[in-house]
Amino acid sequence: SVGEIGFATLPEQIHRKSVKKGFDFTMMVVGESGLGKSTLINSLFLADLYKDRKIPNVEEKLDRTVTIEKKTMEIEEKGVKLKLTIVDTPGFGEAVNCENNWKVIESYLTEQFNQFFKDESGLNRKNIVDNRVHCCLYFIPPWGHGLRPLDIEFMKHLHQKVNVVPVIAKADTLNANEIRRLKDKVLRELKENEVHVYQLPDCDSDEDEEFKQQDHELKQSIPFAVIGSTQVVEVNGRRVRGRIYPWGIVEVENPIHSDFLKLRTFLVSTHMQDLKDVTRDVHYENYRAQYLTKISQ
Ligand code: GDP
Ligand code: MG
Repeated sequence: SVGEIGFATLPEQIHRKSVKKGFDFTMMVVGESGLGKSTLINSLFLADLYKDRKIPNVEEKLDRTVTIEKKTMEIEEKGVKLKLTIVDTPGFGEAVNCENNWKVIESYLTEQFNQFFKDESGLNRKNIVDNRVHCCLYFIPPWGHGLRPLDIEFMKHLHQKVNVVPVIAKADTLNANEIRRLKDKVLRELKENEVHVYQLPDCDSDEDEEFKQQDHELKQSIPFAVIGSTQVVEVNGRRVRGRIYPWGIVEVENPIHSDFLKLRTFLVSTHMQDLKDVTRDVHYENYRAQYLTKISQ
């Protein structure tokens, strides 16, 4: 339905002690302008985060560099509080020469590690503001025939700094066969180029069959083919988010139409804690080890 995001399961993902404090999660979105990043974020979190966005004119676009835009919102569902930070990266892939776009984003990620490291080694360790990025949704255009050099460059340079979750943007512009073909091509190209996107952990063997089936379906869906919309339409008396076409309505949350719900389930109901754990135990630890090696030389 239009009314619920689904993060009330968060307490089940972690010890009850932290429930009172609330949860926080930081997600970055990367992909060229117009791929539906802001719309998807608004759809995922039932928000209206980007309503006064400014559309750059052509001249501004020519010498545009990537900028970092951070927005935070606090949401509450069934008594569970979530502080969600969205890091947007406008300008990505837009300049005439975008060879170094990934560097701006890499520096941002490293800076957050630097800051955390400094705070963690400081005197006031209790009140650290943790700005480390837990997940990066990378938007792949639906109209290409797979990954472009820009996509591969970005993911290859950043896969050891952040959990990269690839998504196929604007999936309503493709039919089911085209989506399957594009997904297979993308998976093949990721492998050929040794890009390691975020891997969902293996399921515990004591989980029930329904959970295992859901987990299997999630894994099969990557890269998630997504649709976003800020428009609420009526379908058979239900009010849902959708996109209206002459031939019918595409429903954002209809699992037959896209992987939107799977992506949302993955992000907020089942894997948010794992994304945070991997950020802390793998990406941050990597950074720390490299930093400590560097200063000891
Ligand atoms: P951003 O620049 O990546 O943040 O893209 P926006 O979210 O601003 O969307 C750009 C345009 O694409 C807007 O006109 C949206 O209505 C449209 N759009 C967003 N998501 C979708 C989608 O899933 N399918 C289609 N067909 N259009 C979309
Ligand atoms: Mg945007």
